[in-house]
Amino acid sequence: MQTRTEPQQHNPLMQITPRPAEIFVRGEGAWLWDAAQQRYLDWLQGWAVNALGHCPPVITEALQTQSALLLTPSPALHNLPSMQLAERLCALSGFHQAFFGCTGAEANEGAIKLARKWGRLMRDGAHEIITFENAFHGRNLATMAASGKPGWDALFPPHMPGFIKAQFNNLASVKEAIGKRTVAIMLEPVQGEAGVRPATREFIQGLRALCDRHGLLLIFDEVQTGCGRLGSLFGFEHYGVRPDILTLGKGLGGGVPISALLAQEHCCVFEHGEQGGTYAGNPLMCAVSLAVLNMLAQPAFLAHVRDMSALLREGLESLALQFDLGEVRGEGLLMALELGQDSAADVVNTCRQMGLLVNAARPHCLRFMPRLNSTAEEIRQGLGILQDALKHVGAELQMQSVA
Ligand SMILES: *Cc1c(COP(=O)(O)O)cnc(C)c1O
Repeated sequence: MQTRTEPQQHNPLMQITPRPAEIFVRGEGAWLWDAAQQRYLDWLQGWAVNALGHCPPVITEALQTQSALLLTPSPALHNLPSMQLAERLCALSGFHQAFFGCTGAEANEGAIKLARKWGRLMRDGAHEIITFENAFHGRNLATMAASGKPGWDALFPPHMPGFIKAQFNNLASVKEAIGKRTVAIMLEPVQGEAGVRPATREFIQGLRALCDRHGLLLIFDEVQTGCGRLGSLFGFEHYGVRPDILTLGKGLGGGVPISALLAQEHCCVFEHGEQGGTYAGNPLMCAVSLAVLNMLAQPAFLAHVRDMSALLREGLESLALQFDLGEVRGEGLLMALELGQDSAADVVNTCRQMGLLVNAARPHCLRFMPRLNSTAEEIRQGLGILQDALKHVGAELQMQSVA
């Protein structure tokens, strides 16, 4: 069996990102195995996707049962799992209706379309959406334009118009950006790809007040922060405000591709033919999502996430002290550690060689996304490997500076 990709070998996959040479073949709970039978504690978990870890039995069972019943009848026919999932999600979130897609970008693009439609009906054609510097909303053309990743506005011209950038956690910059054509404000309550940067409570509550005053929609992209990741079922609960439109993805399927667009009654304005998708609400993914959601929504489950979060935070803070690093940020099991220098890629590689998978969200910052049902033992194990890796990388950097 092929166990690694070699640099000189022709790779028939389009090269979209640098990847380590190992080939990953199996996952179970917190663990991932490569083809050489090396085992890794996985704190990427599919990019905060596998809320319950790799291949949890609830997903295997839901897939087996539903795949023997009905896969995809047609998005133009009703199916039971999509109705049950919509009902459950709306009941849990307090939203009025749901649309299901396959990816976060698709849900966000739906949110943008819904806001533009609402602006046409209710606000005399207002259509501009205020989004934020360093935001990440996905990789289709509209969500790339909505994102604020440095350099992205120069890619794939012409750029989709209709997005005005403001500064995150800077209410004055948002006030300044509001004009006659503004229809909505869209943000991640915690900017994930930017390096886990939480919005402040005052900022979010200020945005809600601005939206109410100016008749704007507040859109939360909770593709990363939703579904228990922050220790509450939805990130907005954390901030004591309710957005008008909410998007979910990643953890919603626990490892299978499903996303959701949820809206309050006053902005459920799509008419027939304006939104859709071949796989929209397909029963296979909806059945899995329903099984996952039923686990995540249990109060004891969310309390466990908060306990593990406290353990992880405490451990990261003590590593930050030990190695004289920077800030520990985040909520729930979405955390970051500032390294104080651009050593994140080195730390990530060293961790992987030592059996821990973590992400360098920025060149100077690590991000941690362990499974939500992590055990205390796993958290301690991961922190132990991270400590060894930091020691190793620190010693190497010191040797380089002496040399
Ligand atoms: C991952 C992510 C997306 C994009 O989701 P895809 O499933 O990759 O399209 C959008 N918004 C946020 C906040 C994300 O973290």
